[in-house]
Amino acid sequence: MKDQNFRNGDAKTAIFGSNEMLQPSPVDKIPDGPTTPQIAYQMVKDETFAQTQPRLNLATFVTTYMDDYATKLMNEAIDINYIDETEYPRIAVMNAKCINIIANLWNTPEQAKWKSGALAIGSSEACMLGGVAAWLRWRKKRQAQGKPTDKPNFVISSGFQVVWEKFAQLWQIEMRQVPLTLEKTTLDPEAALKMCDENTICIVPIEGVTWTGLNDDVEALDKALDAYNAKTGFDIPIHVDAASGGFILPFLQPELKWDFRLKWVLSISTSGHKFGLVYPGLGWVVWKDAKYLPEEMSFSVNYLGANITQVGLNFSRPAAQILGQYYQFIRLGFEGYKAIQQNGMEIAKYLHQQIGQMKPFVNYSPEVVNPLFIWYMKPEYAKTAKWTLYDLQDKLKQGGWMVPAYTLPENIQNYIVMRIVVRQGFSRDMADMLLNDINSAIAELEKLEYPTPTRIAQEKNIEIKGSVFTHTGSGRKKK
Ligand SMILES: *Cc1c(COP(=O)(O)O)cnc(C)c1O
Repeated sequence: MKDQNFRNGDAKTAIFGSNEMLQPSPVDKIPDGPTTPQIAYQMVKDETFAQTQPRLNLATFVTTYMDDYATKLMNEAIDINYIDETEYPRIAVMNAKCINIIANLWNTPEQAKWKSGALAIGSSEACMLGGVAAWLRWRKKRQAQGKPTDKPNFVISSGFQVVWEKFAQLWQIEMRQVPLTLEKTTLDPEAALKMCDENTICIVPIEGVTWTGLNDDVEALDKALDAYNAKTGFDIPIHVDAASGGFILPFLQPELKWDFRLKWVLSISTSGHKFGLVYPGLGWVVWKDAKYLPEEMSFSVNYLGANITQVGLNFSRPAAQILGQYYQFIRLGFEGYKAIQQNGMEIAKYLHQQIGQMKPFVNYSPEVVNPLFIWYMKPEYAKTAKWTLYDLQDKLKQGGWMVPAYTLPENIQNYIVMRIVVRQGFSRDMADMLLNDINSAIAELEKLEYPTPTRIAQEKNIEIKGSVFTHTGSGRKKK
């Protein structure tokens, strides 16, 4: 007799001839029984099928391309838990080698064979570790002086990434924000110092501000801070959030002082999975010297004479990213990284120039210092336009591109901007395809007879003040 049960799923079942493909996927409850791996695979795969191709996602900073050998190495290490150092001691050593290499890219003065740093799951964890270390150092000093420790604060520009809001809330450390303005597009050192006091655990400049792509001037801050610390007797340090810049500046602007060459820079964090060119999640934090890493945060593992310091918020974590990072260092070398970052910059500058010449747009900054930039609609064009950048975002999405539109941080939240991040995997040819699509989208939007819903909503929400749109419905959370 013919087997009439095959539709329940067995080796003979055609995936799309199975009963499962007639059922909704589980939402609340684990299914009663098993499903064949082929069908389960297809169901999970298909849930993400309609998503943007990662390489067309120009919103993300995170790596979407690695070569086949890197991918193979990482896939082969998918079953390794980093924390099992006793079982996989070579991974811990490889991790320490990566920290050494990064510390030296940032000009560490530390002489020890193994530099002081930590692996993290991304910049978020790395920033937290840098921030917690600054807080513990400050607390210890205050305790020794018999002074209160209940009101710590840190100072950062309003262009901070959300991790700093998390840091402030999770550790209950007050975040003092130096506002960014159209004239002052990066952290103003003098304004930052005005916010400091005896309870300031650190100042956090950003290299590669997420919102704008610009760099805070760490050298100027360091100089001003040196005078301030001398005058006040404080010793407020700097933690640099170099999530993007940490892997751009050493290659493209090696003469620029933003790192451990500066006196008050005691720790730096970066994302290995951004311009470190590794798939997520990977971050790094490095301290200038072991003495700046509080003992409470670290425990030492001795293996084959190597004293490996382990620091982190997580216990179990994937090891594959460490292999990926070490592979990239060997595969590319300094010159290889430089070539990739340079290409990214060239393509970003090309896009910046082309978009800056389009009738409706103006670039936020004339400079491109990291391979990303933002632009907005010319106020005089915006006044009569029937569309907004949100409509352009939607149009580009139809072609598979993800180019985000968003409003800037407080004080300049009037501005709806669009951002492009150029990463490894984005070529000049792709840039031309994107420019074509932007031009066609604009041509279509200009033919509109009636304003789009986002334009109508904007009209309701905004008052035109001078040449600037005041957009009251900022998407950003206000405290
Ligand atoms: C991306 C980013 C972060 C957070 O990094 P993750 O690696 O995504 O955790 C922090 N700060 C800045 C400036 C960033 O750009």
